[in-house]
Formats: sequence, C-alpha cells, structure tokens
Amino acid sequence: MANAIHKIPTVSNEKVLDYLPGSAEKKEVLSEIARLKSTKTAIPMIIDGKEVFSRQKVNVAAPHEIHHSLGYYTKGSTNHVKDAITAAQRAKDDWMNMPWSDRAAIFLKAADLIVGPRRAYFNACTMMAQSKNIYQAEIDAIAEWADFLRFNVQYAADIYQQQPNSAPGIWNSLEYRPLEGFVFALTPFNFTAISGNLPCAPALMGNTVVWKPSESQIYSAIAVMRILMEAGLPDGVINLIYPDGPAAGKVIFNHKDFAGLHFTGSTGVFNTLWQTIGTNLSKYTSYPRIVGETGGKDFVVAHPSADAEQLSVALLRGSFEFQGQKCSAASRAYIPKSLWPNVKKRLLDDMKTLKMGSVEDFSNFINAVIDAKAYKKITGYIAAVSKSKDAKIIAGGKYSDKEGYFIEPTVIVAKDPMYRTMCEEVFGPVLTIYVYEDKKFAEMLEIVDSTSPYALTGAIFATDRAAVIQASKALQFSAGNFYINDKPTGAVVGQQPFGGARRSGTNDKAGSILNLYRWISPRTVKETFAAPRDYRYPFLGE
Ligand code: NAD
Repeated sequence: MANAIHKIPTVSNEKVLDYLPGSAEKKEVLSEIARLKSTKTAIPMIIDGKEVFSRQKVNVAAPHEIHHSLGYYTKGSTNHVKDAITAAQRAKDDWMNMPWSDRAAIFLKAADLIVGPRRAYFNACTMMAQSKNIYQAEIDAIAEWADFLRFNVQYAADIYQQQPNSAPGIWNSLEYRPLEGFVFALTPFNFTAISGNLPCAPALMGNTVVWKPSESQIYSAIAVMRILMEAGLPDGVINLIYPDGPAAGKVIFNHKDFAGLHFTGSTGVFNTLWQTIGTNLSKYTSYPRIVGETGGKDFVVAHPSADAEQLSVALLRGSFEFQGQKCSAASRAYIPKSLWPNVKKRLLDDMKTLKMGSVEDFSNFINAVIDAKAYKKITGYIAAVSKSKDAKIIAGGKYSDKEGYFIEPTVIVAKDPMYRTMCEEVFGPVLTIYVYEDKKFAEMLEIVDSTSPYALTGAIFATDRAAVIQASKALQFSAGNFYINDKPTGAVVGQQPFGGARRSGTNDKAGSILNLYRWISPRTVKETFAAPRDYRYPFLGE
C-alpha cells in the first residue's frame, strides 16, 4: 500500500470541440453513427459485472428515425432488482475499504476515456439515443460528464481533508464513511451526464449502487456502464437494470438496507417516491438520504432597458436547444410592450432559419423529441391553443410523427399570464410569452414568482442596474440558478452548481461539493493519549 497523502491532478472544464465542416472529429462521429446503425445491438443489464438478459425484448430506435431498429434491450423483473441489491451489498465491503485514491483513479480514468478514445462512440450513442445534435451531445455526454467525474474527485479530496481541531493530549478525527446500505440511482432520459453522475457520485464516496435509467435512454446508459467497466470499476459497485420504475421501487423501498435515493426526473414521480419512503420508514436501518432534482418552469423576464438582440438570442437558444427538453429550458417569458415589436421580429426571423431533422445532418439545429409519450403530451398543449381565447401561436405549431417525433419550435403569446403553458412544465420546444405594460415591471416580478410551484432556473434581462437589483431581490426564491443577461440553460460543473428548490427538488446542487456531502455518514473519533487515572476533579479538593 502506498503511504501518501495524494495530491490529485488539477481539474479544469473539458474543452468543447467545434465539429467544423471537414474536421476529423466530425468524420469520426459520422462514421461511428454509421457503424451503430449497421448493427443490431442486444443491450444487456449489468449485474455484478455480468451481462444479464431476460426473455422480454424491447425494440430500440432513435427518436428521429423510429422505423430503423438499433437493436433491443430486455426488460428487468423484480428478481433482477433483488439480484442487483445482493450484488451491491456483496461488493460494499471491498469497495468502501479500498483507498479512496484508488476509487478516484477509476473515475478519473473513465473521464479520460470519454474525452479521448471513446469520444466519438459516446457522442454517437447520445445523438442516437436522445436525438441530440452534435453540439448538444458534446456539451452533455463528453464535457459535462467528464467534468462531473473530475470535479467530484476534487470535491471528495476537499471533504476528506476537513478535520476537526484537537486539544493537547487528544487527537480528533472525522472518518467519512459511506452510507450504511445501498444507494438507488434513478435517472432521467434527457442527459447522459446526469445518468452517469447519479450512480457515480455516491460510488465515489464508497457506496454501492443499484441504477435504473429511463427506458428512453438505455442505449446511451449502457455506454456509460461500459466505460466505467473499461476504467476498472469492480463488479457489483454499480448495477444497471431495466425493470419498470414501480417494479424497482416495490423491492427497493421495502428493503431494510435502502440507504439513499439519488433521483433526477419529474416532480410527480419524486413526490410518489418520497411518500413511499416515508410510509416505509420503520423498515429501514437508517433514515434514507433523499436527493431529487425535479421539474421546472423556467422564466426569462425582460426590463424595458434590456438589449433586444441579446434577449431574442437567449430566448431562441434557451427555449429550443435540445427541443426544449432541458429541465432549465426557458418556457415562459415576460417582455415589455415597448421592446416586443423588436424582439418579436428578431426571434421570428431567426426561427425561420432553424432546420429540423436527423442528427446526422449537422445543419439541423432541431431534432426529435424523445418518445411517443412526450410527443403526445407536447402536441396536446399546442393543439389546445387553437381552442383557447387566451393564447395564440405566432410561430411553429406543426408536428409529425411519420419518421420521428418532430415538433416545430413553437411560440405562443398568452393574453393571460396564468394561461396553462405559462404555468405547467411542457418539456418540449414550446415558449409562451406574456407582453406587459412597461410601467408594470414590479407587478410582473410578483407574478413571475407566484405563477408556478417550481423554482429551478430564471433570467433577468436589463441594462439598468437598479432593475437587475430589484429583480434579483424579488425573485430570490424563484430560481436556484439565476442568470443576469444570459439564457437560463447551460450550467457548467464547477462554475454554476445546479439545482432548484420549491417543487424543483432538494437543491443539493449537482456538480458541487454539496451533493457529495449527502452520500457520506461521518464518524467522529476521539483518541486520548493519556486518559485520567483518578475520577476526582480538582474542585473536589476541599
Ligand atoms: P420521469 O420522472 O418520467 O422519470 C425519471 C426516472 O424515474 C426514470 O428512470 C423513470 O423510469 C423512473 N420512474 C418513473 N415512474 C416511476 C415510479 N412510479 N417508480 C419508480 N421509478 C419511476 O422523468 P423523465 O421524463 O425521464 O425526465 C424529465 C424530467 O426530469 C422533467 O420533469 C425535468 O424537468 C426533470 N429533470 C430535472 C433536472 C434537474 O436538475 N432539476 C435535470 C434533468 C431533468
């Protein structure tokens, strides 16, 4: 064993490549997509390091090309959940007792694989699984995930170094144990990086994990798992399974060793999970840690002093990149009447140039939404506008699921700031705008704060500093990530720790030290070098 206090490699954010026409990186990704499309992959679950299949096959296709099969995965059952828990428990002792620098080395190596030899493969899997254009895939599956892995190692080192003071004759220390039991990572479809971070963050701190990804992201989830295995992750530390959510929950939330939930997904599902855990509390050895990052209804408020050009670009990028399926996507905007004609013209002119289609054509800014369920929900909101007196579509509004789940970027203007697409999470390429009287800025801020139950991201656009200060104060609790003169999406690990409160989650800030604190259970140790040999204190001398 190496006797050393390790100095970890300096971390910095991974550079995003440009994928310019004719570039080597562009050619490599396209050839990797061609290779994936020419193969029908059988996607296994990974339990205790072994590939596991069931008899129930489920076809996998890219959301933008639904008639071309990329292969299949097989559905997991409650038995697979039980096997995954057993494997996680078996692996626990060796894993938590492994020197932390060795655990860290595995994750640092995974990051180097992602940004190096597996970059094209990882991008291609994400582009196909989630219908992301190359830029959206690169900032997610490559840059963000590598950042999560590397920065978390830095944060773990920072935590382990935090030690209490010691008085003369004693030595106090804090041991950062993992949680007692196993952690359940339940991940959403929209970010490959989140799917990787949710099992890896607890694992880095010495926990072992049962991981269930979204059914719509299994094609890139297996790529995450394969890279971790290639980097040397021991068998059983993270176990990847594909049962239905409720089937997984039934076993996991009834298990006495369930120690923590690391969730990202919708608010409704999180509420159900929390209630189940609460009901089962007496069954558990410890109070489970519950970390959940959930929905959003993210806003952009413009002050009459805002720069119209910057504002319209922020609205377009913030609302429509990755088809509006970012939890942070701008989905409601409040624009003063005096600015509206200018903003409207710029936004609509730019939107006319947006191309929609397959991820293989790099000139497409817009691709498909994730699946049939999402398509039905989003188009339901769009169809309802034509029947309402309170709202009107001024751009987009068409959709088709003939080849893939394509929905045009759509702008709705609402006459009522409480119109449903101003309040509810649509999670698609739909932006609703409310135009307000310039003098009602203060009233508008109150409405922004009280419109939805969420508080994830939001932005103020203003050149007048007093307006920035006023909005920042009025919206103090309206967003966990607040932007001044920028779109409300695109948080970077190590720069803007991410998460919101109210119904947007527990605000444990993924990509920061705060998140890692949730996966440890410190033990305080006091050692006394010369313990007393007489019970009598000096004051008893009389
Ligand atoms: P989802 O809630 O539908 O699914 C999340 C996970 O929970 C999936 O693995 C799903 O299979 C599982 N699940 C669903 N029902 C379950 C049940 N009854 N029991 C156990 N598991 C169950 O979310 P999604 O559609 O995959 O992702 C989109 C949502 O995630 C949006 O609401 C978005 O705002 C949110 N999101 C939030 C953040 C954030 O940081 N706040 C980040 C990304 C996504």
